[in-house]
Amino acid sequence: MIEKRRKLPPGRLIIASHNDGKATEINALVAPFGIEAVSAKKIGLNDPEETGKTFAENAIIKARAAADAANLPALGDDSGLAVAALDGAPGIYSARWAGEPRDFGFAMKKIEQQLRERGAQDLSACFVCALCLAWPDGGEEVFEGEVKGKLTFPPRGDNGFGYDPIFIPDGYDVTFGEMAPDAKHAMSHRANAFRKLTKACLKND
Ligand code: IMP
Repeated sequence: MIEKRRKLPPGRLIIASHNDGKATEINALVAPFGIEAVSAKKIGLNDPEETGKTFAENAIIKARAAADAANLPALGDDSGLAVAALDGAPGIYSARWAGEPRDFGFAMKKIEQQLRERGAQDLSACFVCALCLAWPDGGEEVFEGEVKGKLTFPPRGDNGFGYDPIFIPDGYDVTFGEMAPDAKHAMSHRANAFRKLTKACLKND
């Protein structure tokens, strides 16, 4: 049976994030469908606590909180890096591994150190992104995207953010940190999740 997904109507969509960059990026994707992306920060909503055990659960928590508070459809996302030899860590704790204030140089060293302690030979890893579209009258749609690759140490490249300098996507020999931003954005875990969301909830049949 083909699952029918609910289409997002033209109007405002709350982006359940306090990151202005994310709202701007999402706005460019949804604007052609008559949808205006507004960040949760802009309308004064608080971030809920990320208590989920998976990327999808955290995306749902963020989207549901924003949809309920704004009484509008809302989009939540959660993403991170899963390292095979570390049993999927840092995973949903990717941001938290960088401490407060965030220091991804420290987080990347921590990954390298833990791999060394385990004598890991397998450097495969995967970036994952879960997106959740929540409706103010109840119900959610979740889409997941990923990009597979392998880790390299020391970090290489100044582009991007977070763990980009240690991640080489499959089929390439440069890290996300060395890649032109447009090239990364076209193939990233976020792009893959967005393609699924667009196909299911934005494009007309
Ligand atoms: P959140 O999805 O905003 O909770 O943050 C997830 C964390 O995962 C970020 O702080 C980054 O550390 C990491 N992350 C997610 N996507 C990427 C990416 O595309 N490149 C590098 N790091 C990422």
